[in-house]
Amino acid sequence: MYQCEHFKIQELVPPAIFEACGEGAWELLDERLLITLDRLRKLYGPITVNNWHVGQEREWSGLRTPESPFYSPTSQHTFGRAADCIFHRTDAESVRKHILADHDDPNFDLIGGIELGTSWLHFDVRNCERIKAFHP
Ligand SMILES: [Zn+2]
Repeated sequence: MYQCEHFKIQELVPPAIFEACGEGAWELLDERLLITLDRLRKLYGPITVNNWHVGQEREWSGLRTPESPFYSPTSQHTFGRAADCIFHRTDAESVRKHILADHDDPNFDLIGGIELGTSWLHFDVRNCERIKAFHP
């Protein structure tokens, strides 16, 4: 089982899932997502996904359940295959450009889709002709 080197499980699931599953919640997330999160962290520095565990408001940027106001049954977030990332030392647009310009870079080889035009980086590990870039 892969567990992130640079992220706690609380950063990737909402509070109710952490309360129910604890560290077992790692099993709900696709390992390709987790591996890529660590790679992006190494390349670009600190990243915020969820921050509810430190008293802030983001709780739906990783795994989403039907309780989320952003829930969709077909979202990659629903399947533990997507994360919305806020970068501290760079910005989403720069990272997106880098990924799209160099998608054969081994650091990016597990990425399936990315969203365009958002102030965060949504990436996912969907099964598709990669890299699929789309507007949300
Ligand atoms: Zn997203």
